[in-house]
Amino acid sequence: MLRNSRAFLTIEASDPELVQAQLAAFTKQVPLLYFMLVTNTVALTVTHFQAAPALLTLYIPSMLYAVSLFRLVHWWFSRHRHYTHEEAIGRLRSTYRLTALLGAGFCAWSLSLFPYGDAYQQSHVAFYIANTVIGCIFCLMHLRAAALALTAIVLGPFTIFFGTSGNPVFTALALNVALVTIAMVFILLTYYRDFRALIQSQKELTARQAETQRLSDENHRLANLDSLTNLPNRRQFRAELEKRLALAEKNGTSLALGLIDLDGFKPVNDTFGHSIGDKLLIEVGERLSAFADHNIFPARLGGDEFGLIFEGQPGPDQLHALGDRICAALQEPYIFSGQTARVSGSLGVAILGDAGTTADRLFDCADFALYLAKQNFRGTTVVFSAEHEAEINELGRIQQALRAADFRTEMYLAFQPMVDADTSGISAYEALARWKSPTIGTVAPSVFIRAAERAGIIGKLTEVLMQKALEAAKTWPEHIRLSVNLSTRDVVSNKTVDALLDIIAESGIDPARLDIEVTETAVMRNFTLAAENIRRFAERGIGIALDDFGTGHSSLSYVHRLPLTKIKIDRSFIIDIATNELSRSIVKTIVDLSRNVGCVCVVEGMETAEQVAALRALGCRMMQGYYFARPQKLEDTLAYRATAETILNPVLRKTG
Ligand code: C2E
Ligand code: MG
Ligand code: MG
Repeated sequence: MLRNSRAFLTIEASDPELVQAQLAAFTKQVPLLYFMLVTNTVALTVTHFQAAPALLTLYIPSMLYAVSLFRLVHWWFSRHRHYTHEEAIGRLRSTYRLTALLGAGFCAWSLSLFPYGDAYQQSHVAFYIANTVIGCIFCLMHLRAAALALTAIVLGPFTIFFGTSGNPVFTALALNVALVTIAMVFILLTYYRDFRALIQSQKELTARQAETQRLSDENHRLANLDSLTNLPNRRQFRAELEKRLALAEKNGTSLALGLIDLDGFKPVNDTFGHSIGDKLLIEVGERLSAFADHNIFPARLGGDEFGLIFEGQPGPDQLHALGDRICAALQEPYIFSGQTARVSGSLGVAILGDAGTTADRLFDCADFALYLAKQNFRGTTVVFSAEHEAEINELGRIQQALRAADFRTEMYLAFQPMVDADTSGISAYEALARWKSPTIGTVAPSVFIRAAERAGIIGKLTEVLMQKALEAAKTWPEHIRLSVNLSTRDVVSNKTVDALLDIIAESGIDPARLDIEVTETAVMRNFTLAAENIRRFAERGIGIALDDFGTGHSSLSYVHRLPLTKIKIDRSFIIDIATNELSRSIVKTIVDLSRNVGCVCVVEGMETAEQVAALRALGCRMMQGYYFARPQKLEDTLAYRATAETILNPVLRKTG
């Protein structure tokens, strides 16, 4: 009870919002309070001027006026000021003190006038005190402690003074005022409680708003951040590129966009598991972030793809040098709890101005440069240049013609035999695509296959070529096999694989006569899916040939995990086979490996008698190359076969 009543009389300092609200509400009432106090006081001194001594009607009131004036001036200069919590408490404390002091002062002063007047003047004193104090208490509504203190300090003595005056009118008046006081205190407490509740609900509302804001900020952060590496994601990278691009154009500063693709990440995922794969990506992010001093902004764009914004690099040479340092950093081994993983990163860079001025264009050019890096210079940097510009235009032209092309009429096949050196016979034909466009003329297969991949129409093209190849095979003797090349995209497209299996089934050709050729890079890009699809071909009895073996980055362990029937050694090892010991030992290893895993080994690109002799000495039996025959039209295969024995026997006898 005591503690409760004490709480009523103290400042609620633990509630900063309430303290601030109290101070603000009271500040608004200050002029009214002092206006009422001073005018009422002036009225009382005027009615007592003749009757009471100058000390009471002039000097003491003047002092009270001075204090009031001082307070008003202070109010005027501080009315818009913001107070800290401690200052606000200090302000409330001094207000309480001043209230008590002024209350006691005015009360004592007015009661001291009482003995000097007649009945009217005495009534004025009573009226003055009751009226003024009730007015002041209402002005102090928001300061509960001050209002209650003032009630006690003024109305206590007032009731006692007039209640015990012996005059029944004054006694009635005292009683009356006491009852009004009780009612007023009740109203005051209720009002204050509501005021406090209002502040509390405002506080909760503000807190809820702050929480909503915090959640929305967090949402925004997550929407713009890659959760694995904590780097900005593609969305933020794109926004940042647009922003910096506009700034660079305005200020004439340099900017370049870099795109990184990891080489060999999929095998790491497949061999070491996804958790090591994740750790590796995190470390790649860290290694990229370590270049922050060079004014680069790194981001993870998805999968094993990262983006960089370069600023302040003056030209292609500097970008090339910095890019190669970044690639070198990515190539360092990644060691996780004793296991060592290796990947490399290829980087394609497009410079603002050289490559274009829009974000889209920079993306396209950087992507093209990255493609070149991956094709030819893995683990290095390619900066987009004017020659690439011509190439990209050419590719665009080809893609356009390809989209408009009727594959059935414009595409045809050339067939190159694979020769069995032991029997001097043709064991198989490889079908090689040819395109003579009515608009742009003859285009090399390496070019239009790539264009079809980029245009996303390779699947349809492969289907048409497969049909044509199967038709051609029907014209050959049963023992001659058919080899058809699949693109990287085909191997990982379930839709294309479904369609191809249907075409093969409908052709009437025994699937066991057919080989599909897939390249290492195709398999490595998405090993799990590629292996699954390859298995589907194998289940139908179709042979699986690994094309261009030795040029990719696959480890030999992968060979074991695919149902391979044929390995084709890439031409690059054959070119210097007669002179290069290393090439010879690599080929020897692959030949032995093939024999061990039960695969047929075919060597590609045989151009000279020396090469044939060298390879026969290494134990190679199946060969393919210009030395035996160039890719030929279907019509020519018949004539070639008719004379093959007479051509091949002397050729092989010469080398064997
Ligand atoms: P590939 O599958 O490795 O085909 C062998 C390539 O080497 C052919 O080039 C062939 O003409 C060439 N070649 C054969 N013997 C020799 C030789 O002794 N010396 C030299 N210098 N070259 C020789 P082509 O026909 O230009 O095809 C190039 C590549 O285009 C193929 O390499 C293959 O990756 C792709 N390709 C060709 N046709 C198709 C197709 O129908 N589908 C798909 N997806 N890719 C195809
Ligand atoms: Mg091939
Ligand atoms: Mg090949």
